[in-house]
Amino acid sequence: MSESTSAEKEAPLDEQDRVPCGSCYAPLPKSSSSRCGKCRKRHYCNRECQVEDWKLGRHKTWCGKAGEVGYDFQVVDIAGKGKGVIALRGFAKAERVMYERRILSCRTLSGIRPIAKSFKKLSEAEKNAILDLFPSEADLFKKFSTNSMSCGEEDELGMDSGLFVTMSRLNHSCLSNTNHWYEPYLKSKVLFACRDIAEGEELTIAYSSEPSNKQYLLSHYGFVCTCEACSNPEIAAKVKEIKRLDNEILILGMQMNSDMAIRAGKRLLKLYDELHWPTQSYVRTCYDIFQVAIMKRATLKEGLHYMQLGLAMEQKQYEGLNEPERLGSIAKYASYLKHPESHRNYLIAR
Ligand SMILES: [Zn+2]
Ligand SMILES: [Zn+2]
Ligand SMILES: [Zn+2]
Repeated sequence: MSESTSAEKEAPLDEQDRVPCGSCYAPLPKSSSSRCGKCRKRHYCNRECQVEDWKLGRHKTWCGKAGEVGYDFQVVDIAGKGKGVIALRGFAKAERVMYERRILSCRTLSGIRPIAKSFKKLSEAEKNAILDLFPSEADLFKKFSTNSMSCGEEDELGMDSGLFVTMSRLNHSCLSNTNHWYEPYLKSKVLFACRDIAEGEELTIAYSSEPSNKQYLLSHYGFVCTCEACSNPEIAAKVKEIKRLDNEILILGMQMNSDMAIRAGKRLLKLYDELHWPTQSYVRTCYDIFQVAIMKRATLKEGLHYMQLGLAMEQKQYEGLNEPERLGSIAKYASYLKHPESHRNYLIAR
């Protein structure tokens, strides 16, 4: 094929005619390595690697239900940001984008020793993936603290955190287009779309749970955020309003001022829609509205409506999963919807 203008667009794929093994991450030729017979998108060195990946329940759970590197997303160089991950196809809101097992885990405050020990046990490809992480000159501990993602609860030794081969490559945006949660029973992270994502768009996550936390981003990750929430005054004002309302709805609820709390909640949902806010916040606010609306008979029906909305979004996100904690929260919402009188706030205000 001769060089043409389309060559530039296809460059990331041509450059990466290799895909990592779905189990050990060894780089494999995309065109000639063996792959999962069902989805045809997950490659393996050999039968052992495939069995390993399937046996642990990971690919068994996710085959065809989330994207795969080289088909749905790809790690590429992003101008001014080092490496990043782009979507190779469009994703719909709430669709799972990727899942990935963590290769190194540690409590954030337990120091370098446990990390160094686990590092030694990794495959060559996994070691290389970690050494290749930003900042390039940094030691293992610094690379871990800069690139690890939370994988559960915090205790006296800090947050349970993990490094990932692809997900640790995701760049930050305070208004990220993806969000993630950790599946403890698969020791894997799941990434899903917060909003519709177009082919070629960079996939981003929020490094801080608080948007536009510029000081934290600078001191912890060493960059000045230039995302829309940090650079566009109109959007920054909406982000500020979200923070204020999120706090206000709880206070108003405690004061049993349900009418104003409902109003704050509705405004929040509208802002979430406008800014494509993470779906978890949306679900939580629906629940907050429900909690305050069922305090009064006059707003009971409205409360049930928002509970229904939140539940539908929660079900869509966790569809096809058997993770006990998620199923528990869905069951709890469903039971409140059916029996609002079982909630402690039921008709306590007049
Ligand atoms: Zn392998
Ligand atoms: Zn498959
Ligand atoms: Zn920002």
